[in-house]
Amino acid sequence: MDLEKYIAIVEDWPSKGISFKDITPLMADGAAFKYATDQIVEYAKEKQIDIVVGPEARGFIIGCPVAYALGVGFAPVRKEGKLPRETIKVEYGLEYGKDVLTIHKDAVKPGQRVLIIDDLLATGGTIEATKKLVEQLGGIVVGAAFLIELTYLNGREKLSGIDLKTLIQY
Ligand code: AMP
Repeated sequence: MDLEKYIAIVEDWPSKGISFKDITPLMADGAAFKYATDQIVEYAKEKQIDIVVGPEARGFIIGCPVAYALGVGFAPVRKEGKLPRETIKVEYGLEYGKDVLTIHKDAVKPGQRVLIIDDLLATGGTIEATKKLVEQLGGIVVGAAFLIELTYLNGREKLSGIDLKTLIQY
């Protein structure tokens, strides 16, 4: 299936120079959403995943159906102040300034095999920070999967060492 036709490209949104890749048409199409989910499940099957970890918010949308299909749990990574119990946090650089991501302290157990999922790999900063959180809890990142990869931002280089799966490349 040609998944690319289910991605809406919005130029100069949310700010000038950004070519935003909108995944909502893919999510809205049952066959396309299932196909994309199945592709990631197929990739993850051989990896003996214990838990899927995904950053808010679109990492939840892709990560949860994959976790369900694998029969494993899902742990959310969120911006600071959103998770109700004890968390650990990591700061990461943005184009301007910095941001903080958090995960519940008991979300991943030492030695668990973790698959990280998000909708899109851009610079890789979000996934690098998510990997740090998982590793601080003693988890082992055995792969990361995305619907979309913006190859011109070289996120893959930043994440060298992680096995990556992406379904659509720009
Ligand atoms: P990064 O940390 O640079 O890899 O950015 C990844 C996060 O930002 C993902 O969670 C995406 O949802 C979002 N993102 C970055 N660039 C885009 C884009 N061009 N279109 C849609 N989402 C984007």
